[in-house]
Amino acid sequence: MQETATVQCPYCGQECEVALDTTIASQQFTTDCEVCCRPFSVHAECELGEVVSTYAAGG
Ligand SMILES: [Zn+2]
Repeated sequence: MQETATVQCPYCGQECEVALDTTIASQQFTTDCEVCCRPFSVHAECELGEVVSTYAAGG
């Protein structure tokens, strides 16, 4: 089950939408900011069908 969540780029502050698989309780991945193009890591906690929390950090 996929949900979208909004995370804030730790570099420029731009809010980016990411797709999360909510069947995975705890996940971490890297995404590129669509504005400043810098990669940052996203940590997400999910429950089935729901994004509980997200955390973005620079690398
Ligand atoms: Zn950015």
